[in-house]
Amino acid sequence: MGLNYSRHIEEMKSLRTDNPVIFMKPASSLLKVGQPIVRPKHGQKLHHEVEVVFLIGQEGKNISEDKVSEYIAGVTLGLDLTLRDRQSELKQKGQPWEISKSFDGSAPIGKFVEAKGLKVDEIGFSCAVNGAMRQRGNTSEMIFSVGKLVSYISSIWRLAPGDLIFTGTPAGVGEMKVGDEVEIWSPEIGKFKWKITG
Ligand code: ZN
Repeated sequence: MGLNYSRHIEEMKSLRTDNPVIFMKPASSLLKVGQPIVRPKHGQKLHHEVEVVFLIGQEGKNISEDKVSEYIAGVTLGLDLTLRDRQSELKQKGQPWEISKSFDGSAPIGKFVEAKGLKVDEIGFSCAVNGAMRQRGNTSEMIFSVGKLVSYISSIWRLAPGDLIFTGTPAGVGEMKVGDEVEIWSPEIGKFKWKITG
């Protein structure tokens, strides 16, 4: 989901939306911990967006908000890598964002922890590049809560086991260059890092 944290909406000079803004990434976007982030060639400004990611554990359609927790099997952190210059161009033309956000390796994800026992609306998380803090957030600050978001998505798409839901990024998105190391962590989930290669 895009635009789920107010201060990120401000830094993007975007406007709050009545419904969640949803786009998709194909399976080829996934990147495990330890694999290099290969800087794509079709854009200049590669941005990090740290996000809390939920793993769906069972099939579901039209899930009501109070039942959402039964469908969430795991939680981790991920990066919604974005070619910001290409995204601005696409936005301007009113075109879909996928070219800027859904390229190969655009979704590095950490290892999953079980959702059971976790307060999903109170997960703190951060992102640093070369040791310097860039982003800090908490799922309690989300405009659309996990419950609202998953319920909404399931009203449009039938969810299946293995589906991953990225829940939006807090403020502080920024550029990464070849050679940089990006690190994301949460006291509830763990710490994961990747290196950018050319
Ligand atoms: Zn994002």
